[in-house]
Amino acid sequence: MLETESITTLAARIARGEVRAEDACAEAFARIRRSDGDLGAFLALTEEGALTAARDVDRARDEGRPLGALAGVPIALKDSLCTRGVPTTCGSRILEGWTPPYDATVVERLREAGAILVGKTNMDELGMGSSTEHSAFRVSRNPWDRGRTPGGSSGGSAVAVATRMALGALGSDTGGSVRQPAAFTGTVGLKPTYGRVSRYGLVAFASSLDQVGTLATDVRGAGALLTAIAGADARDSTASARGVPRFEDACGRDVRGLRVGVLDEAQHAGLDPRAAEAFDRAVGELGRLGCEIVRTSAPSLAHAVATYYVLATAEASSNLARFDGVRFGLREREGVRHLHELIGKSRDHGFGAEVKRRILLGTFVLSADAFDSHYRKAQKVRRLLRDELTRELGRVDALLSPTAPGPAPALGDHADDPLAVYLSDLLTLPASLAGLPALSVPCGATPEGLPLGLQIMTRAFDEETALALGHAYERVAPLPGALPPAAGAL
Ligand code: GLN
Repeated sequence: MLETESITTLAARIARGEVRAEDACAEAFARIRRSDGDLGAFLALTEEGALTAARDVDRARDEGRPLGALAGVPIALKDSLCTRGVPTTCGSRILEGWTPPYDATVVERLREAGAILVGKTNMDELGMGSSTEHSAFRVSRNPWDRGRTPGGSSGGSAVAVATRMALGALGSDTGGSVRQPAAFTGTVGLKPTYGRVSRYGLVAFASSLDQVGTLATDVRGAGALLTAIAGADARDSTASARGVPRFEDACGRDVRGLRVGVLDEAQHAGLDPRAAEAFDRAVGELGRLGCEIVRTSAPSLAHAVATYYVLATAEASSNLARFDGVRFGLREREGVRHLHELIGKSRDHGFGAEVKRRILLGTFVLSADAFDSHYRKAQKVRRLLRDELTRELGRVDALLSPTAPGPAPALGDHADDPLAVYLSDLLTLPASLAGLPALSVPCGATPEGLPLGLQIMTRAFDEETALALGHAYERVAPLPGALPPAAGAL
């Protein structure tokens, strides 16, 4: 049944008593058993707890008690989210063997909504990466082509949803980690406004950018998940006290007359011609749906990659000191060598190569020599970019671009060229740096059948316009195919 249901249709059928939550849960685990050995979506499974929770939902329904909005729906959680009694590694050896004594706020809220939590998904170590290949534990494969990456860092969550091992998942997005894997797997991914969702219990990567996001098989599902997790939290002062609408209700809103901007700089960002063509068609569709298409520009986009990799690494290097007690401090130039030695030592604790690279970069940009020329400058460019995007979003209701410059790369591509990987984050970074919401919706596929994504960025706290546009587009968008080949039949 999971093949044909979405989060909201399954919740409705369970509430009506047409489907048993226990059966939906059993099917999710049958799918996981069938395909996960090969696809590598999960790091931990919570079958027993899931079945118990599903039976509780069925009993509540039989007894006529009220059900939560997500009651009985199988949902997967990125391993960057703390789960009480369930190991949480964040894809890193450094946290291996740790079982948090508490739930992240978003996890607590999903439980309250009746969601059935099936397990923890694979990710790049500490969220650092774009392919899930930097997981310390296993490779995740793209179900549309097993030789390719599902994207990252929330690659496991995207694979789980694409193959219906779960109907939705939470990820975390610092610079694109929810949106890009959604694009690469033909699923929907939403990064909310910074502050829309509590970060309590989310393992920190770069705290001024981190935000929990949702993945689902359709736009309405991504909205429904956000409704369940959003809102103020006494345990995270950056979580906004703004009211939380029923985001899924934005689906079906009239989009005629909305002004939609195409970012000039995004079109000249070295796009793969197949991605450029799919994007042009998507813009055409939105025009036919009655949106007014406007040219827009944010010149500082050219510096988004440099800005992000200075700020995110700086924040990461100070956040990560908590794990091994090493202060990655630098006082003088010679310090760089000293730092190499320290990080070399931490190998025993288990940081992988990409994380070490980030700590080195971050410690360098925070050092006395580089602070003004790198860190402070990056802060200024971040402000410029945010001002430019905010200005354009004063003239238009949404800004469009492809989610990524092309389809999913082959596994191992760019293994020794980290810069090429960083550059491929260009289109997702602006929303992160500006703290704006952005939605990725499937936007057809390449002739080889690799999914592509359309990104819709909107004003701060206006996720609803992104969902309305995404939903309208989803209904006319070419589908990459019903289910990826690797999902297999049950
Ligand atoms: N790919 C980006 C990075 O490696 C973004 C990762 C993320 O959003 N967690 O930093």
